[in-house]
Amino acid sequence: MTIGWLPMTASRTRTAAAELRGAGLRVTAARVALLETVRDGDHLGVEAIAAGVRDRIGHVSLQAVYEALHALTAAGLVRRIEPPGGPARFEGRVGDNHHHVVCRSCGVVADVDCAVGEAPCLTASDDHGFSIGEAEVIYWGLCPGCFAARRSGAPSSI
Ligand SMILES: [Zn+2]
Ligand SMILES: [Zn+2]
Repeated sequence: MTIGWLPMTASRTRTAAAELRGAGLRVTAARVALLETVRDGDHLGVEAIAAGVRDRIGHVSLQAVYEALHALTAAGLVRRIEPPGGPARFEGRVGDNHHHVVCRSCGVVADVDCAVGEAPCLTASDDHGFSIGEAEVIYWGLCPGCFAARRSGAPSSI
C-alpha cells in the first residue's frame, strides 16, 4: 500500500511550506519538517521534535531545532505550552485557546476544550483594565494508566 504515499507527502509538504511563506517566514527543509513533526505529534517536547525532524530530513542540530521552534511559535504556527515543573511542549493546534490536562505522575498531556462556548475563559471576572489575549488553564491529575497503577498498588516508575 505504498501507492499514494509519495504524492500525499509531497502535498503535505507543499502545504506546510505555503503556511510558512504565508506567515512571512523563510521556507527551509528544517522548518517544514518541524511543522509537520509538531502537527503529527501530541504535545511533543524538544527532544522528540528533534528526533522527528531528523527522521524526515537527516541530521539537524538541536540549536537549529530551538531556533525553528522559536520562529514558528512567534509566527503563531506552533503553540508552546509549559506546565510548571515540566519541560516545554509544542503543538500544532493553535488559535483556539484550548486548555490542557497534565498527568502528575507520567507527564502525559491531553487537550481540553473550553468548558462553554467559543473562548469564554478570556472573559475574566475582573480584568483589572488589561486587554486580555489568552487564558491558560491547566488541569492536573492522574492519567487513566497511572490511576489504575496506583489503585492496583503496582510500583510507580517515578
Ligand atoms: Zn500518567
Ligand atoms: Zn493542546
